[in-house]
Amino acid sequence: MCKICPKQKKALAFLVAIGGAFVGFYMMFSMTMKPSVAQKPIVVVSTFALYDIARNIASDTVEIKTVVPLGSDPHAYSPTPSDIATFSKASIFFINGAGFEGWVENLKNTLPSQVVMVDMSEHVGLLDNDPHYWLSIDNMIEMTREIQRQFSTLSPKNRTVYEANAYRYIESLQKLKQQYEIGLKECKNRTLVTNHNAFGYLAYANNLKNISIIGLSSDEQPSAKKMVEISTLMQKEKISTIFFEELIDDNVAQTIAKSSGAHAKSLQPLENITQSEFDNNETYISIMGNNLVKLRSAMECH
Ligand SMILES: [Zn+2]
Repeated sequence: MCKICPKQKKALAFLVAIGGAFVGFYMMFSMTMKPSVAQKPIVVVSTFALYDIARNIASDTVEIKTVVPLGSDPHAYSPTPSDIATFSKASIFFINGAGFEGWVENLKNTLPSQVVMVDMSEHVGLLDNDPHYWLSIDNMIEMTREIQRQFSTLSPKNRTVYEANAYRYIESLQKLKQQYEIGLKECKNRTLVTNHNAFGYLAYANNLKNISIIGLSSDEQPSAKKMVEISTLMQKEKISTIFFEELIDDNVAQTIAKSSGAHAKSLQPLENITQSEFDNNETYISIMGNNLVKLRSAMECH
């Protein structure tokens, strides 16, 4: 006598299949019926300065996403398909503008209509179309006010939270501005020599002469003539330090430093931050504070 005869086997298999289908259906049904967790609106930003302001104003009311990978040069960034999917889910997409994101023109017309794109360069004071305007603390204050306005339109019930957060953030920016004014008031040398021309706003705000090896974009190559010119000038004006930007190759700065007897040191232009800066919870204020220490030492301020 068989333990399970062919007929019974068939019936059992049928029951198992029905049972499986039922369990699958139940799981699917229970997943779709779960009470939905209220989703926060998504805000996408393209630079670290915008990210730092947005996270300070939003508290936990908004999900803030960046697209440029930590530690990479944003001048060389172009969006991946998954970045484009992220842009499409955004309620607001803040861009730096002033030509900083060369890739944005092609993207603009492909985004769904719910994405509000804010070009921050339209809300700040620009110097000769230089896109590195976040290095002016006054511009950071204007940017904070615009982000507060945009968040209040997006989520009016949180208006008072944004107002209080913006007030606090602007207060800390004003304190930083004062530290720069005092810290760079009396210096032996007022010439700031940098690799790519990212620090024009900082120099202008603090009455420094700004010389850079290459132009507004970090991917240019300097001519040999330009390198000799800068090396000669540094020797003549007894400039002790040439700054290169973190995240960017320091070869050229090192070569000029060697030929002019100067030091090459890094300065953080806040275009992006590294993984370790992110892990150490560095902020716009803390990094600008570190930059001030380096500038004061290089220019012999007291
Ligand atoms: Zn730059």
